[in-house]
Amino acid sequence: VSSLQPREDPRICVCVRKRPLNQHEISMKDLDIITIPSDYVVMVHESKQKVDLTRYLENQTFCFDHAFDDTASNELVYQFTAQPLVESIFRKGMATCFAYGQTGSGKTHTMGGAFSGKTQDRSKGIYALVAQDVFLLLKTSAYEKLDLKVYGTFFEIYGCKVYDLLNCKKQLQVLEDGNQQVQVVGLQEQEVCCVEDLLNLVELGKSCRTSGQTSVNAHSSRSHAVFQIILKSRGKLHGKFSLVDLAGNERGADTAKANRRRQLEGADINKSLLALKECIRALGQNKAHTPFRASKLTQVLRDSFIGQNSSTCMIATISPGMSSCENTLNTLRYANRVKEL
Ligand code: ADP
Ligand code: MG
Repeated sequence: VSSLQPREDPRICVCVRKRPLNQHEISMKDLDIITIPSDYVVMVHESKQKVDLTRYLENQTFCFDHAFDDTASNELVYQFTAQPLVESIFRKGMATCFAYGQTGSGKTHTMGGAFSGKTQDRSKGIYALVAQDVFLLLKTSAYEKLDLKVYGTFFEIYGCKVYDLLNCKKQLQVLEDGNQQVQVVGLQEQEVCCVEDLLNLVELGKSCRTSGQTSVNAHSSRSHAVFQIILKSRGKLHGKFSLVDLAGNERGADTAKANRRRQLEGADINKSLLALKECIRALGQNKAHTPFRASKLTQVLRDSFIGQNSSTCMIATISPGMSSCENTLNTLRYANRVKEL
């Protein structure tokens, strides 16, 4: 049993979300091999074959801060992940929320929301839900007097390159000064006055991200998208919430037959996801040294991995099907490791 005791650290929250079987999986008669027996346990029932060719189920159990089954709404996931961190940015905190998982497992659905039914109504994702709560808190008596202004940024990290999604995908340089302050030079910070303004930035960034791409998912699965909500007081940084839709973590058998460019991309993504894990672990262990320079992603998010005022949540998204078993187990092991002592 690979069940591990999660570390009790309120600054790090690791959750798992299972999506429903999709039409394709149902038509392929893919089996749902994931059960969520309680709201923090995930079980994988892997079908295996004995030497005499009879089949048996191998069960593996994982524990997390929270586990969401395929009936959970974005709102419910939000309540247990990003929402508890929102207020911290009003108290000069740095918050991050990562969606981690295989391509097609529900990262963008969780972060960005989804179109529901026949209408063009978008059900809200984490971006919209955080935006709502930020503007609610901004108007409360406790924070109104701080005279905070709200800004949004949206950029993409592909390999070691950073592109501004609010400025026609302009490539940006990342500089580090003598005090290890990291700066994305020239990154557009757009001031916003309401939730709609922020969501318009998300839409602008999304259309910018996919412009000139033949396939939306093919591209987005290989880069990290970072949307940030920034609070400033008299022009100075007050607090920041970074919402990150990570590149797909699948680097299985398909890499072997992929072309050289794909292999290099895969290696880059692997490196950044490993660095991310180490940086979150360092935050939890109060390590003096955070290995943030190991990737562009962690370098750009350096502020969020240091200090008592930083907190992180990770939503590991998993596909339910037998056909995704290996990727799902990889995702669960990684997520488990983030919190393991
Ligand atoms: P990723 O960003 O991880 O590649 P997506 O968020 O694009 O994956 O999800 C792939 C497909 O599955 C989309 O059509 C999405 O709407 C659907 N989906 C993902 N998660 C859920 C969920 N929890 N409930 C219903 N549909 C989902
Ligand atoms: Mg996606």
